[in-house]
Amino acid sequence: MITEKDVLAALASVKGPDGRPVTESGVLSGVTVNAGKVYVSIAADPAKPQAAEPVRQAVEAAVKAIPGVAGVLATLTAERAPGGPGAPGAAAPGPRAQAGTARAGVPGVRHIIAVASGKGGVGKSTTAANLALGLAAQGLKVGILDADIYGPSMPKLFALHEKPEILEGRIMKPLSAYGLKVMSIGFLVEEDTAMIWRGPMVMSAIQQMLREVAWGDLDVLVVDMPPGTGDAQLTMAQAVPLAGAVIVSTPQDLALIDARRGIAMFKRVEVPILGVVENMSTFICPHCGERSDIFGHGGARQEATRLGVPFLGEIPLAMRIREKSDAGLPVVATEPDGPHAAVYKDIARQVWASLSGKPARAAPRIVVE
Ligand code: ADP
Repeated sequence: MITEKDVLAALASVKGPDGRPVTESGVLSGVTVNAGKVYVSIAADPAKPQAAEPVRQAVEAAVKAIPGVAGVLATLTAERAPGGPGAPGAAAPGPRAQAGTARAGVPGVRHIIAVASGKGGVGKSTTAANLALGLAAQGLKVGILDADIYGPSMPKLFALHEKPEILEGRIMKPLSAYGLKVMSIGFLVEEDTAMIWRGPMVMSAIQQMLREVAWGDLDVLVVDMPPGTGDAQLTMAQAVPLAGAVIVSTPQDLALIDARRGIAMFKRVEVPILGVVENMSTFICPHCGERSDIFGHGGARQEATRLGVPFLGEIPLAMRIREKSDAGLPVVATEPDGPHAAVYKDIARQVWASLSGKPARAAPRIVVE
């Protein structure tokens, strides 16, 4: 298994813009390894991003040469937002810019929230999809935007594979599933193509999916963020006018460290943390019903308490959740009265309560006349 350490060792031979190894010149702003795929973000000078392009290419070549690497994506970050200053969404200065820059809203969309995780594979996308469905189950108008360029999941989670229709001009019509409006980078490009996207292209794709999609009237737009806490994610968190963020973590210590970084990242750009979700919490054996805490249990709750952010709930590690997700039949939509849907819906109620400023509604009362 390739580790970040292996990547850094290989990058020590790549020279940065100042002639020093990139590992020493401070231009490496993030290195993530996920299932053999390596993502590197490189901070570029926004005034002359072209100068960093040869470095980016050298970084990709060096990582590609490591035996066992399945894919590599090196992105330049800190570039100007597409359209230049003043353009809609141009408030994405650089990852090192101060928080509090104006972020233009999306007309018709009341709240945009991010679902994020410190690393890949913790169930972020599954949680985002079922959270969106849980919000819709409360009668809200909900959209989901899959901004996970490293591995768009919504096409699979909702079994949606057609290309969005183009309405007037460049405006795209979102696809729909179970009453949700769905837009994914996976509808626009093949998965392999997304892998070679670079910073500015990523940013323009996100802006396009936010602002050139006929979202219509939405109470909540859920954004499935790319995993990680590097500059690419930070830039995106700044470019999207977020009302809050939900952090998904597994109970393992390592995942919790990453989750902590995620919380710190959103705090840095002044995005409120709506709460932490512990995914793959307890395993309930489908045969005997026995509970086993495979990855430990309760770690995320303790961490949330320690950091003073809300804890939203524990989603069990359940075969049914995986089977349903992989079949494009998310549990909240297809087994709405089941035990797993109940957990997601409860999380959704708490999220809506903090967005709307009203206390979470209890289960409906039965009134006998
Ligand atoms: P991420 O977006 O963090 O990379 P995904 O949502 O794609 O993660 O989930 C990774 C895998 O784990 C998928 O196969 C998904 O079906 C499975 N998964 C996610 N949450 C659960 C859960 N609570 N129980 C069982 N499997 C899960």
